[in-house]
Amino acid sequence: MKMELRKDYILDEWVIIATGRGKRPEQFKTEDNIYANDSGPEKCFFCPGHEELTPPEIGRVKGEHGGWKLRWFPNKFAAVDKKGNPTINTADKFFTYSDAYGVHSVIVETPEHSKQMIDLSEDELMELLKVYANRIDERLNEPNIKYVSVFKNEGPKAGTSIVHSHSQLISLNIVPPIVQQKLDAVKKYPSCPYCDILKIESKSLRHVHEDDTTVTFTPYASRFNFEVWIFPKSHYRTLMDFSDDELFDLASALKRVLRKIKELNANFNIALYYPPKGADLHFHIEILPRIATWAGFELETGIIINVVSPEDAAAFYRGEHK
Ligand SMILES: [Zn+2]
Ligand SMILES: [Zn+2]
Repeated sequence: MKMELRKDYILDEWVIIATGRGKRPEQFKTEDNIYANDSGPEKCFFCPGHEELTPPEIGRVKGEHGGWKLRWFPNKFAAVDKKGNPTINTADKFFTYSDAYGVHSVIVETPEHSKQMIDLSEDELMELLKVYANRIDERLNEPNIKYVSVFKNEGPKAGTSIVHSHSQLISLNIVPPIVQQKLDAVKKYPSCPYCDILKIESKSLRHVHEDDTTVTFTPYASRFNFEVWIFPKSHYRTLMDFSDDELFDLASALKRVLRKIKELNANFNIALYYPPKGADLHFHIEILPRIATWAGFELETGIIINVVSPEDAAAFYRGEHK
C-alpha cells in the first residue's frame, strides 16, 4: 500500500499515487473490442476505393499499383477553419475570442481497415513520423499559425469512433496552454531540464527502454495508468531534427510501448510536444492509456489520482511480472 503526493518534474501539476488496491497489470486488461460496432471496410470512408467520399485529398505516400500507404485530407467535422479572422479580441474586459482559425486534417495511417497503429511495422511507423514532421513544418509556415497540434485517438475511451487507424492535425492561431506552461517552466532552469530528467530516469525504477538515441520511461508524476514518455537523447526540438536512423529508433521505441499497451487492450492517446518557432523545448512523445475515468476530485482540484505507480507501470513495460 502506497500513497504519495507527487509534483510534475517542472510543471505545477500534482498527482496522488494511490496503489492501495494492489491490482496486477493484467487486471487492468479490458475485454473491449474496438471493432464491435464497426460496420466494416465496405462502409468505411478511410478505406481504399472510397477516396471520393472524403474531402479533397491534400497528399499521400504512394503505395504499390497506384495505391497509397498513407493519405491525408481535411477533417469532415473540422474544429477550426482557415476562412475566419485569426485576431484575438477582448470585449468588455472578460470576453476574449477569435474565430477558431486553422486547418484540421486527418492522416490515415494505413490502407488496411483491420490494422491498428500497433500492427504497423517499424518502417511504417517511421513513415508516419515523417509525414508528421513534414505536415507540421508545412502548416507552421502558414500565416497566423502559432502551433500545429498532432495527436492520435485510439478507441472510444480516447475519443474516436472511427476504427480505421488515423492521426489528426490541428493548426492554431494560439500556442496551446500546456505547451506554453512547458515553455515557461523550462526557462526557469539554466539548461534544458528534460536533458537532465531523461538521464536520471534512464537509470531509475521508472526506466522502460534505452537504445543509442532514445530513452523511454514512465514519468514520476504519471497522471494516467501506464503513462509513458519517449525522448530523443539529443536535445532535438522537432521531428525535422532526426536523421532516418534516429527516426527508426523512435519508431521502434513507440512500437515497443504499443505492444505492451495491446496486452492491456487499452484505448490510448498519443501527444507530440515540441516548441513553436523561435522557442525551445525538448521534443517528446507522451503515450496516454485511457483506462481510468477522472472523477469529481480530479475535475475540482486538477489533482489526478493514479492507482498504478509509474514504478509498477515501468516494470510492466520492461516485461517484469511481479
Ligand atoms: Zn477502413
Ligand atoms: Zn533537452
